[in-house]
Amino acid sequence: MTMPSFGTFFLPGPTEVRPEILAAMLRPMISHRGAEFETLYGNCDAGLRRVFRTVRPVFISSSSATGLMEAAIRNAPAGPILSLVNGAFSARFADIARACGRTVQALEVPYGAIVPLETAEQALRARRFAAVTAAHSETSTGAAQDVQVIAELAHANGAFSLIDSVSGMGGMPVETDGWALDFVFTGSQKALALPPGLAFCCASDRFLAAATDAPARGRYFDIAEFAQYAAKQQTPNTPAVSLFFALEAQMAAIGPTGLECRWARHAAMSAHTHAWVEHQRQAGRAEGILAPPGARSATVTVVKTAAGVDARSVVDAVARRGFTLGGGYGKLAATSFRVGHMGDHTVETVARLLEVVGEVLATAGA
Ligand SMILES: *Cc1c(COP(=O)(O)O)cnc(C)c1O
Repeated sequence: MTMPSFGTFFLPGPTEVRPEILAAMLRPMISHRGAEFETLYGNCDAGLRRVFRTVRPVFISSSSATGLMEAAIRNAPAGPILSLVNGAFSARFADIARACGRTVQALEVPYGAIVPLETAEQALRARRFAAVTAAHSETSTGAAQDVQVIAELAHANGAFSLIDSVSGMGGMPVETDGWALDFVFTGSQKALALPPGLAFCCASDRFLAAATDAPARGRYFDIAEFAQYAAKQQTPNTPAVSLFFALEAQMAAIGPTGLECRWARHAAMSAHTHAWVEHQRQAGRAEGILAPPGARSATVTVVKTAAGVDARSVVDAVARRGFTLGGGYGKLAATSFRVGHMGDHTVETVARLLEVVGEVLATAGA
């Protein structure tokens, strides 16, 4: 088997995984109840604490990130949930809350927008909520929200903050302790550039204490149980051991000082992408970026195609040239495509992709 060279796969999740990280998964199995696993777990946890910017343990779930959306809701104390909804993933969060039997008040804005902070504040003042849900980087639209302020507003009004930073964590600043986030989570396959299958979360002490009284937190996503096992450097159930090997390798690669470089690299990739879209817009080859300036994710950009250009044919034409783009999400499929400039990509790999996309757009309108 030959390893393909890196730099062609720009889906906004799963993102491209470096060959060294894939190779780390070829190690033989080990017992998850033994010293060898505990060392592995300890290395993963230490790296994740640096990524999350926390001194508390980061729990590692062998599930996709949606599992931790369910964990957020199931472990929250009884009471209604306020959901900030501005795209497909934040809508899923609200939906999961309803499916778990919660009363949900959704503050919904059009795709691409963010929920105005004043609107969130008014809603929080009008009624006592158990918790607020929000997406930091809404991967379906490329919009980024100020989750620091959302968490402050939640606290000021007696609610916990449940933050989906699935496509933010590792690519954009997140200060779990500094912003006093109560429950923040991510998945392995977005900006951390690991294969899919693991999800990571951190809970505040207050949230963890309240969780022990949560009425129906179930078992698989019981964070009190995660905390008990994390203290022994273990997981409650059989973990996806091979993915832990990949995680350990990626945490070592980021190292003690790599996170801020990672944020800077993502800022540079998004700035390059935004400038490219503006250039395309001026040439009449694209309509522009879906999310407004000042509220754009550093990890994913949703590009609206020019009138009359089917975005799906752009994605297909780019694929024939050997590069993978993300299609527009759901109802945006015909009118937009998504560039996942995240993970281990660089300005150079993104620039090479965009050159190809530019060639396609130049012929698409003709
Ligand atoms: C990808 C994603 C999810 C869902 O993650 P899964 O690992 O597919 O369950 C949730 N929220 C956001 C913002 C995402 O980008």
